[in-house]
Amino acid sequence: MRAVFGSKKPGKVAELREVEKPTVIKDDEVLVKTLYCSLCHSDLSLAKGDWGEVSDSSVGHESLGEVVQVGANVKDLKVGDYVAGPAGLRGACQKCKYCLRGEEVFCDEVVFTGQRGYGTMQDYTVEKAAYSIKVPKDTDLAAACIITCAGITVYKGFKLANPIKGDTVAIFGIGGLGNVAIEYAKNVFGLKVIAVGSNEKSLEIAKQKGADLIINWKQDDVDKKIKDFTNGVGLDLAMVTSSTLPQFELAYRNLGKLGKLCSIGLPAGKLETDILDITLGQKMVYGSLVGTRQDLREALEALYEKKVNPDFEVKSINEAEKYFELMDQNKLHTRIVFDLTK
Ligand SMILES: [Zn+2]
Ligand SMILES: [Zn+2]
Repeated sequence: MRAVFGSKKPGKVAELREVEKPTVIKDDEVLVKTLYCSLCHSDLSLAKGDWGEVSDSSVGHESLGEVVQVGANVKDLKVGDYVAGPAGLRGACQKCKYCLRGEEVFCDEVVFTGQRGYGTMQDYTVEKAAYSIKVPKDTDLAAACIITCAGITVYKGFKLANPIKGDTVAIFGIGGLGNVAIEYAKNVFGLKVIAVGSNEKSLEIAKQKGADLIINWKQDDVDKKIKDFTNGVGLDLAMVTSSTLPQFELAYRNLGKLGKLCSIGLPAGKLETDILDITLGQKMVYGSLVGTRQDLREALEALYEKKVNPDFEVKSINEAEKYFELMDQNKLHTRIVFDLTK
């Protein structure tokens, strides 16, 4: 079967290889035929060894597949069901304090796709049935791949903020995450949305996605524009999906009283905060790292109801090497979903 790996050859980013198809499953597992798998920036980082050595595991964590074999103890899935998993999360202990609080992503014994020895950018994978979320047959499966990572991450960010309808959010960073965030903010949480980016084309797309105001942070007076839009009170919520430190500073500076800053981007750096300002204004700074199975169920509902419509292009998995390279050269401007059905 086909599987995509990071490449150790000089000048090469990823390799499509032929590997053996798994055949043995445990009683609580299912064998899944991958149908679609989208390409995420963290797949590129893994493939290139940005976080350590180039991994010997295949990459991929945003996939939709069909159950082709079920273990003896699996009761709620059957052959032919379509399933998704939350961004790489493939197991947790169910007993530690994080699991008991419904935050299994932070489990002391959490298993992510890379750690178990293979990702989902391959024709077949063995999954724990308990971590395979059933999706309806008529789902747009390629679009659902994007919800399993970008979708749940921003959805969880909003859910943690617990915003009130009509609140104003500024979304900093209008890439794949930012675009999905605009739709969740507008159509699921009922927020007013300010999209902050630096690329005119991306800002135009943000407008089409429903942003009420767009700001080019490299050209515009961001503070003044936010102040004018919020009648001088500042932001209720700022979500930073970019990994650019100055955008975090802008986001924090423009929070109003009771304002919350949700960090999703991963810049290496520190954000300076003013303790007096935080205490007197009852402000909050927090992070959002993917989501749980329950978050995925909720985030997918918005897709089923057509409240979110991620943009993407479908390409054959046989072209994977080319698209990893294009992403590495910063030449990809839309999400790529690989088709593994052919
Ligand atoms: Zn991802
Ligand atoms: Zn646990």
